[in-house]
Amino acid sequence: MQLVFEQIRAGGDRNFGYLLGDRHAKQAVLIDPSYSPETFVQRARDQGLTVTHVVNTHGHPDHTNGNERALALTGARLAAHPDLRPDVILDDGAELAVGSWHLRVMHVPGHCADHIALYEPEHQLLVTGDLLFVGKVGGTRTAGDAETEWTSLQRLLAAVPDTATVWPGHDYGVRPCSTVALERASNPFLRCRSLEEFLRLKEEWPAMKAAMGLK
Ligand SMILES: [Zn+2]
Repeated sequence: MQLVFEQIRAGGDRNFGYLLGDRHAKQAVLIDPSYSPETFVQRARDQGLTVTHVVNTHGHPDHTNGNERALALTGARLAAHPDLRPDVILDDGAELAVGSWHLRVMHVPGHCADHIALYEPEHQLLVTGDLLFVGKVGGTRTAGDAETEWTSLQRLLAAVPDTATVWPGHDYGVRPCSTVALERASNPFLRCRSLEEFLRLKEEWPAMKAAMGLK
C-alpha cells in the first residue's frame, strides 16, 4: 500500500478538490472535482488508478457541479451525505475504503446541513471542505447555524490529533493547507473560548475583513 494524495485547484472561487488513492491497489477517489472533472480524472489515469468513488464534502454547487461528468468519465459511484441521494451513503461514523486506506466520515453541519469531514488516520489527513479553512471557518446564515458549526468544530477537533493536517475546500488562507495545531493557535475562530465569543466574532467578521482588506 502506498498513498497517493493530491490537492488540486479546481477553479471557481479558489476551490480545492483532492485525489486520494492507494498506488498498489490501483484505486482512488476524487473529492469535490467540481469545475475541473477532466483534470481530476486525468491525474488518476496518468497514475494507473481506477476511480471507485466521487466524494462530496457537501451539497453546494461549487463542490458538486463536476459530479455528473466525473461519474460519466469513470463509471465510479457517488458517495456523500444521505441528503444528496448518493449511491453510497456517508453518514456519521461511516468508513469508505480506498484500497488499503480508510476514510472516516464525520457529520459536521453548520455551513450547511449535509456537510461531512473525511479523516484518513494512517497519514492523519483531515479533509474539512467548507467547515474549516486556513485561518477562518465556513460561512453561516443564522446564529442557529453558527452554533451548530461551533459544535461541529469542537467535535471534529476533539476526534483528531493536533498533528493532523488540514485540507480545506477553498484556498482562502495564507497557505493552502495547515495542521490542527497551527489552526488551534492562529485561527481566530478556533481561538474563541466560548460559543458566545465565537458568535460575536462571526457577527463582527465582515467588518473586520473589510478593515483588514481580506477577501
Ligand atoms: Zn459550501
